[in-house]
Amino acid sequence: MRIGIDLGGTKIAAVALDPGGGECARTRTTTPRDYESTLAALAGAVAELEHATGATGAPVGVSLPGIVDPAEGTVRAVNLPWLDHRPLADDLAATLGRPVRIANDANCFALSEAVDGAAAGAAVVFGAVLGTGVGGGIVVRGLILPGANALAGEWGHVPLPWRTPADGPPQVCACGRIGCVETVLSGAGLARLHAHLSGQRLTAPDIAARAVAGDTAARVTLDRHADALARALAGVVNLLDPDAVVVGGGLSALPGLCAAVSARLGRYALAPAPRTRIVTARFGGESGMRGAARLWPQES
Ligand SMILES: [Zn+2]
Repeated sequence: MRIGIDLGGTKIAAVALDPGGGECARTRTTTPRDYESTLAALAGAVAELEHATGATGAPVGVSLPGIVDPAEGTVRAVNLPWLDHRPLADDLAATLGRPVRIANDANCFALSEAVDGAAAGAAVVFGAVLGTGVGGGIVVRGLILPGANALAGEWGHVPLPWRTPADGPPQVCACGRIGCVETVLSGAGLARLHAHLSGQRLTAPDIAARAVAGDTAARVTLDRHADALARALAGVVNLLDPDAVVVGGGLSALPGLCAAVSARLGRYALAPAPRTRIVTARFGGESGMRGAARLWPQES
């Protein structure tokens, strides 16, 4: 059995997986706002899962919205400031009396989908997360590729390629740069794109609902958004050439998104008919904790 914990800004969700990926038990609690209480809550989640399953000493992985500094072993997490610069993996390992692995949540998403999700069986997987922000992760033969700076897969903060006037004027990104992929492909980016194209101020879910109901303006916006995603992913395909791209996050529910991107990828990638599979995530919000459990490969 392996335990995976999704440490988020508002909640801690944890799952115990059997060797086949089946769920043995799960638990959930509110994320405390200080370091010592967060450590205690993580240890408490492990104890609860072991009590529920009768297992002991299971390997533990943690997914969080941040990175682990490859040199220092400390956490960088702007949304969880009480963890920032803390050696969370070492401290939790000392508390639990066993090694602990920690990874970025987008990397855990990609890993979960690569092992037994929508990209199961694919050797090289790019996980693309489209939500409040745009993140990503790379998995090669069942292992996360973290990168020298723990930045591998951060495609949300490169410029959107092949801009057209229909994309709207380049916007300042949360990272401080101008015209990043995230400024067009995130939920706020989709809303801004719709305002630019139609003059209507709607949220991303409203635009999706209107498109499903047959609204032409909403369909035009989703078409442009899918085109922008195809352009952004063409850069990923030319650089990494993954076997599969798994699209997750709230915007993965946009109607027809993966099919529209698949149809356009060949216009922008160097191969005119790329074999890359573009698929919607299987596990959705569970991928953080499932991927965290997968930080310990089966053979360990
Ligand atoms: Zn940016």
